[in-house]
Amino acid sequence: MVDVAQRRQAIEPREISQESETSLRITWADGRVCEYAAAMLRRACPCAQCVNEWTGERTLKPGAVSDEVEIADLSIVGRYAMTFRWSDAHETGIYSFQYLRDLCEHSDA
Ligand SMILES: [Zn+2]
Repeated sequence: MVDVAQRRQAIEPREISQESETSLRITWADGRVCEYAAAMLRRACPCAQCVNEWTGERTLKPGAVSDEVEIADLSIVGRYAMTFRWSDAHETGIYSFQYLRDLCEHSDA
């Protein structure tokens, strides 16, 4: 049961703070702190416009997103995800906390 609790803490944000227009920090319940650059998050958008639903292939080209893209707004969706409105007017991506945690683990590697 300890494993289940640890896994749940790993995808449960204790604090979400927008550090600036271009960066976000999430402190997870297990104590891990993750920093996210807006451009990285925008490029990782999981919505159907950015990723082919059937093949899982990313259709959004990294070059299509400016390094200067900003977080215009963000909101929490229920207990499991959050959404962003970007300065390029895109806002359809739903980022689950599991996905955000995975992005953090992989960008550290
Ligand atoms: Zn998208």
